[in-house]
Formats: sequence, structure tokens, C-alpha cells
Amino acid sequence: MSLSTRLRDVCRVALGRPFERREIRMGTIVTQRVWGANAEAAADEVSRELEHLERALSFHSPESDLSRFNANAGRGWTPVSADLLRVLERARACSELTGGSFDVTAAPLVRLWNIHGGEPGRRGRPIPPKCEIERLLPLVDNRDLRVDVHAGSASLARPGQMVDLGAIAKGYAADRAREIYVESGVRSAVVDIGGNVALVGRGPGGLPWRVGIQHPAERQGGLIATLAASDESVVTSGDYERFVESGGARYHHIIDPATGYPARSGLTSATVVCGDSTLADALATAIFVLGPERGAQLVDSFPGIGAVLITDESTRRVYVTDGLRDRFTLLDKRYAIHEI
Ligand code: AMP
Ligand code: MG
Repeated sequence: MSLSTRLRDVCRVALGRPFERREIRMGTIVTQRVWGANAEAAADEVSRELEHLERALSFHSPESDLSRFNANAGRGWTPVSADLLRVLERARACSELTGGSFDVTAAPLVRLWNIHGGEPGRRGRPIPPKCEIERLLPLVDNRDLRVDVHAGSASLARPGQMVDLGAIAKGYAADRAREIYVESGVRSAVVDIGGNVALVGRGPGGLPWRVGIQHPAERQGGLIATLAASDESVVTSGDYERFVESGGARYHHIIDPATGYPARSGLTSATVVCGDSTLADALATAIFVLGPERGAQLVDSFPGIGAVLITDESTRRVYVTDGLRDRFTLLDKRYAIHEI
């Protein structure tokens, strides 16, 4: 379990000491730093909300609302809880907006690959046989997910189809956390849900926060760059988060729904900066699948959204979309900033 984006909390003094909490929620490390009179109560409420979301959205827990929904695939409409309904609708829309590079129905393939590792050289399960991938690939089709927000129900067209919210649920949770902080009247807050960083207010001295982007080739939280940001989210997808290595190749956890194999787009990480954490999470995954050119085009189709794309060790390029250039500081000079 690794955090793909880390905060550099440069001068804590100017804002006073935050209330801090670090815990495992939604299968990842969650760090909250909250400033202001209601800090502790707000952090408690966020913790409870994340527990609640995990119960609703977990793919792995057979008791979750999501698992009950998946078990009904091919059997018509299933009533679902309000949170699952909202996330399913956002996920369905994001699948459409990204042309299916983020595809919420990729679950049969995600489960087949079953990549949880993160250690170089870790011996994982064998690479799935091509025939298995080809058998499951036709089940991946986000148009088969239908969501009726008025009736409070959703459906998957065919038996064997499944939804996995792993690429969007943490973003949704970060949006919920931000709403809770704002409603609680806290002055400033930073929450990092497994690499989904959401910011409330400004950082020390009324200046933007400096959010670190994890170095893709360095473990233990080394940074490749920082981004100035406030009142928005910074979300990273990377191939170094969960992977296994076999025959010299890295098989990571982000599947290209077009091929059924881990995406090989030349990117090693994609970071999205956006006021909407749910969208940022889905877009980061989609861009990672699409690669630099098509990924940058996708970002440009959303006004006000920025991205930082980093290519693998063989090319060491960094692409920064226009709106982010003056907020971006490259720390590792072995990498070079390129125009797309
Ligand atoms: P993220 O770290 O946000 O990019 O999400 C990766 C997780 O989302 C994986 O661990 C899978 O559970 C799931 N996933 C993998 N590939 C895709 C995809 N192309 N579209 C949607 N979800 C995916
Ligand atoms: Mg994502």
C-alpha cells in the first residue's frame, strides 16, 4: 500500500498545529490534517463517513451494497443505497466521457489479473492465459451499466458482468470528506486517501499548499515534483502502486479495457488537478490508459482541469498542461519538461 501523492507540509507554524489522524480506511492509508476549532470533531466525522462508504462500495466484501448489486448482474434492476447510486452514476458518466478508457465494468479482468503487490520482484500469480483474457473481455462494456437515479436502482445487462469502483471510490470519498470539513466550519484541511489529496482552504501564511507528486522510480515517498494548490484535489494514478514483475516486465493494476492487459501507454504516472475529486480520480486512471497525447487531449476537453503526465524511465519526460505550468516545480532534473 503506498501513497502516490504526498503532502509537503512546509511551515506548520503559520497555521498552528493541526489535528492529525492516520488510519486504514477503504483498503488504503488515510491521513487527515485539520486546522480550526472543530478540527477533531470534523476528523471523527470523516472517519465514520469513510467506514460507511467502505461498507457500501467495497468490491471485496461480500456484504457490501456493491457486492449485492454485482451478484444480481443479468437479473434486471436492483435497488441500491444512496451512496452507491451516486457513485455508480458518476462512474457510468465518467466511463462515457473517457471513451471507456476508464471503464467501471473492467472488474472481470481486474479480478482475473488480481494484482495487489507493490514489491519489485514479488512473485505473484502467473500471468493469466490469453484465452482467459479473451473470454472475459466481451463482458467489459460500460454501456451495459444502467442507473435510474429517480427509482434508486441500477442494472448490469449480462450475468458475469461486474462493477469495480477502485478507480473512482477514493475520489468520491475525498469529495465527501471535503464537504464535511466545510460544513463543520474548519479553517483548513488536507486529506490524503491513498493518493487522492483533497484540500480545503489555503496553506500556511494564506499561500497555496505545495502538494508533492511521488517519484515513480523511488520508493518510500521520494518526490519528483511539487504543485501549488488550494481548495481543490490532486489525484495520481501510477504503475508503481501495485504491480508484479515477471520475465522482466511489470504487470500493474491499471487495465486497458481495449486489450485486457495492464495499460502500456508509455506513462508511469498521471496526476490530475481539479475541484472535483471524483472526476479527478476517474480521469487520472483514464489518462494513464490513454497515454500522453490522447490523455492530454482528454484533459483539454475539460476547462479548468490540469494534469501532469510522467513517462517511464526509458524516456523520462514530463508533460504539464498549460494552466499548471507556473504552479509546477520539477525536483528531479534527470527528467525534462516537454511540450505535448
Ligand atoms: P486508480 O489507482 O485510481 O487508477 O485505480 C486503479 C484501480 O481501478 C485498480 O486497482 C482496479 O481496481 C480498477 N481498474 C483498473 N483498470 C481500470 C480501468 N481501466 N477503468 C476502471 N477501473 C479500473
Ligand atoms: Mg482513479
